[in-house]
Amino acid sequence: MHDIALRAAGLQKRFGGLLAVSDVSIDIRVGEIHAVIGPNGAGKSTLINLLAGELLPTSGEVLLNGADITSLSPDRRARAGLGRAYQKTTLFAQFSVHENVRLAAQARSTAPLRMFGGTRCDRPYLQLVTDAIDRVGLSARSQIVADKLSHGEQRQLEIAMVLATNPQVILLDEPLAGMGPSEARGIIGLIASLKADRALLVVEHDMDAVFELADRLTVMQDGRVVATGSPQDVRVDPGVRAAYLGA
Ligand code: ADP
Ligand code: MG
Repeated sequence: MHDIALRAAGLQKRFGGLLAVSDVSIDIRVGEIHAVIGPNGAGKSTLINLLAGELLPTSGEVLLNGADITSLSPDRRARAGLGRAYQKTTLFAQFSVHENVRLAAQARSTAPLRMFGGTRCDRPYLQLVTDAIDRVGLSARSQIVADKLSHGEQRQLEIAMVLATNPQVILLDEPLAGMGPSEARGIIGLIASLKADRALLVVEHDMDAVFELADRLTVMQDGRVVATGSPQDVRVDPGVRAAYLGA
């Protein structure tokens, strides 16, 4: 296993006249949470979409464990170990927690789809599915339909759906968005627990959470990286304080 699990090298994304992501290079290491912060429109979500394969870069490369995955589809990346949490839109509202996680596990697998078969071939999935639901703390809610979950539980479910694909790298775009303080607490603890044998990239607005979670921090503005380093280093960076932290 590479120390650097995911690397972006000179990534650029142009939308017409706008350079949404401009020459961004970033390394995501196993065992670390790498947070990306920056004002609205800085290019954070575009960066995640480029890494996940939802968007193709205008130029630059994405490497997973040293292998060039720049032209792979999101599904191929997922099978290679790159997991991305999608927001609510990808939940099946009338399906239970268990069914949603099971679909996510199967959709990302190379094996044939066996949704409700209950055959022996389902066992490896079922173990991953049960483990993922356990891990996010939704075991007691396993048979509840997604629609009936609280906002926070739906975000937990999204994370379970990523975990069920057994990813080495996890990309999270604003995992705390719309949460109250106690729901956020739970998710922060969960995210912190995921890095032991994985690499995480987390885009998040909540600065307290960012400084609590991040081992490494990248600050973006107008599509560019304006600072990168340990949270302590970034916090005292004069350019960052002036441009973003409002100091
Ligand atoms: P952030 O997530 O940091 O708020 P985004 O990556 O969503 O920023 O957006 C960066 C810039 O790119 C913004 O100016 C946004 O309007 C623009 N943008 C994002 N997606 C598209 C798109 N699909 N087409 C055109 N412009 C886009
Ligand atoms: Mg965004």
